[in-house]
Amino acid sequence: MSPNTRPVETPVQLVPLVCPRCANFLPAQPGEVAWVCDQCGQGLLLGGSPLALRPLDVFCSASVRHGQRGRPFWVMPGRVSITSRTTYKGDESRAAREFWAAPRLFFVPAWECALEELLSFGAALLKKPEPMAAGSPVPFLPVVTPPEDVQALAEFLVISLEAERRDAMKELKFDVTLDPPQLWVLS
Ligand SMILES: [Zn+2]
Repeated sequence: MSPNTRPVETPVQLVPLVCPRCANFLPAQPGEVAWVCDQCGQGLLLGGSPLALRPLDVFCSASVRHGQRGRPFWVMPGRVSITSRTTYKGDESRAAREFWAAPRLFFVPAWECALEELLSFGAALLKKPEPMAAGSPVPFLPVVTPPEDVQALAEFLVISLEAERRDAMKELKFDVTLDPPQLWVLS
């Protein structure tokens, strides 16, 4: 970022972070966008226009061990259609088309993590999805990624996966169509 560019400032909106179901105060920290009320168990998402708390289903994977703090992911099936993939050297386009021929389950990390971490978790789960079986509620890391960011991050994951192939990719044109994301807490 050059010294002259500053982030676009959005007007501050104050939203009472009180569970709409049981009136419990949510111990929300700046930057967080989703919670489970620790009193009544209601999942809540802060978003939309006007900014408000809305009910959100939060699924906790049965694979999270007792005493462990789970990691939140936005999870949804996505269809990728590659319209053009060119390379400098080698050609893995056939493998690429085969991989994306079927819908894939996308996992976008929703806790605060570095981009490299986001890509490595997301790409590993895209290649080898975790079985999705819901279990009992568990504590989880704060959710900071709003669902509006999921499309761009899923596209980033596709680029990252394609760049990882053994050929030298030059250019990739593609579309990603995602189903609405669900919030899952995984181990
Ligand atoms: Zn509540």
